[in-house]
Amino acid sequence: MKKISVIIPVYNNQQTLHKLYQRLVRVFTKIKQNYQIIFIDDGSQDQSYKKIQKICLKDKKISCIKLSKNFGQRFALMAGLKYATGDYLINIDADLQDPPEIIEKIFNELRKNNNVVLAARRSSSENIFKKLSSSIQHRILNYLIKNYPKEGFTVFGISKKVVQEIKDRGNNISLLQLEILNYGYNYKTIYYERDKRQIGKSQFNFTSRLNLAIEMITLTTFSLLRFCLFLGFFLLLASFGYIIFVIYTYFNVGTPFAGYSPIIIVSLFLGGLNIFMLGILAEYISVILRETRSYNKFNVQSFLNKPK
Ligand code: UDP
Ligand code: MG
Repeated sequence: MKKISVIIPVYNNQQTLHKLYQRLVRVFTKIKQNYQIIFIDDGSQDQSYKKIQKICLKDKKISCIKLSKNFGQRFALMAGLKYATGDYLINIDADLQDPPEIIEKIFNELRKNNNVVLAARRSSSENIFKKLSSSIQHRILNYLIKNYPKEGFTVFGISKKVVQEIKDRGNNISLLQLEILNYGYNYKTIYYERDKRQIGKSQFNFTSRLNLAIEMITLTTFSLLRFCLFLGFFLLLASFGYIIFVIYTYFNVGTPFAGYSPIIIVSLFLGGLNIFMLGILAEYISVILRETRSYNKFNVQSFLNKPK
């Protein structure tokens, strides 16, 4: 019998953990598959770890990886992936916004030999601002990243083969969600309705979302850099053109400078543009720096029922 590993990053989800656990077990009883559930406590400050401890104590199929501090969702996911031992790996959030029942659908696709299954929300009951910002984010990513699914995705399932390929890359992965699209597997997308958050609030705010979006772009695509290069080149040509024009009018028409406003405009424009481009370059350099430094992206403090 195949084994399914579910990895669940947890950051301050004390209210939903027990319910989530119960619903997961119900799913696995229904589909009659072997499974392991791994909670990754990402430095929660509430009672989350206590709740997980309680569950782990009476159910040996449930494991917990406790990280030494809050590293962020994506690194918590990486920790889960590192220790998962199943034939299939599925991630799900701890706040019950993604109904655990979609695991059945994902599993059904995985066992049809799909190596990558993405679950996209069809509609979401989030507020209009969040809907808008995530739709813009997905549009940009669609445009910039070749095989990014149109609708975006939050939950995914991958086969052991993909898990192994990711593990082989070692510590060098920052964004699991994008990494799984990187190996050229055809992916299957399924759809689900996302529930309205019933308890608690999002652990992400506008700035952390924006940071994530910028990182997704700089980590995965170089088209922005190239765009800057072309834009810079074009403007350089244009300013040469302008210089020739100025020299020409100097000799043939007389001093064209009724004021120095053109100078100010041009230098401000070019100066601003330069800074903008330097900013983008700095963005890439900081990513390179972070990626090349060999540091641990997460640190495990302890295990409960260490995954076997
Ligand atoms: N999460 C995490 N570390 C963090 C922030 C979030 O492990 O620093 C987990 C969180 O517990 C949840 C998932 O990542 O299981 C998604 O977080 P959240 O529900 O806050 O995100 P949203 O639904 O707003 O995208
Ligand atoms: Mg959520």
